[in-house]
Amino acid sequence: MKHSTKKEELKKYWEILCSAEAYLQGGWSVDVSDPPQQLYPPGTRSATQGFDQLRSHFGEKAQEKTLRPAEQSPTFDSLDQISAEIRTCQKCRLAGNRINAVPGDGAPNPKLMIIGEAPGAQEDSSGHAFVGRAGQYLDKWLQAINLDRTRDVFIGNIIKCRPPDNRDPLPDETAACMPYLNRQLDIIQPRAILTLGRISTHILTGTSDGIGKLHGRIYRFRDTPLIPTYHPSGVLRNPVYRKPVWDDLQKLQRLIEQQEAGS
Ligand code: URA
Repeated sequence: MKHSTKKEELKKYWEILCSAEAYLQGGWSVDVSDPPQQLYPPGTRSATQGFDQLRSHFGEKAQEKTLRPAEQSPTFDSLDQISAEIRTCQKCRLAGNRINAVPGDGAPNPKLMIIGEAPGAQEDSSGHAFVGRAGQYLDKWLQAINLDRTRDVFIGNIIKCRPPDNRDPLPDETAACMPYLNRQLDIIQPRAILTLGRISTHILTGTSDGIGKLHGRIYRFRDTPLIPTYHPSGVLRNPVYRKPVWDDLQKLQRLIEQQEAGS
């Protein structure tokens, strides 16, 4: 039997990621015709391992999706409807450990959608996004660019339930939760998206580089411009990230102004 080369494995893995894109109904900004040099999912050691993991997951989910049309987005959707579904969601194992699901909070017609990783302990107890220390720090970032959290911004996460011990979300948890975020984006239609940290940036840009490499550029997710930056918790731990965050915030402010001027 012919063994596939590392390049072939990477190409296979890249193709499955492109199918995953369709499943997630997303729109990655990167050119999907060529695989990047290094692209292994977190927690896997090789392209083949990542490929098998994703193939089994997305294969099952795709089948489930065609068998259950009732799960498709309703024609008339609303943020309240989505929040109600999220609060009672049982689509993945995280439902079993939560106190509250955290659908996201903010203005119904905001300029900006901020997307973090997953609720932490305080968000889990309150049912609201970014209410802990990171959230208070994030409020200061917003004030610095004249944005008001309740008026101009909707804040949510990639996954809506707290993972045990704040571990990274697993691929099947992310896949189960992404349709909620896509529906929220369909309704909110923000002028820009700000991703906070590695997890939300990787998922929405389809890349796996570190934030240090990714930030400073504008990506697109489902036609909306997206700026990645560091997670406020990371910046609280390491003040060296303050300067790049400030650069990203200024870029974001200019982007929102340009979008408003163009509409
Ligand atoms: N960190 C996140 O990524 N999201 C929250 O809601 C809180 C902390």
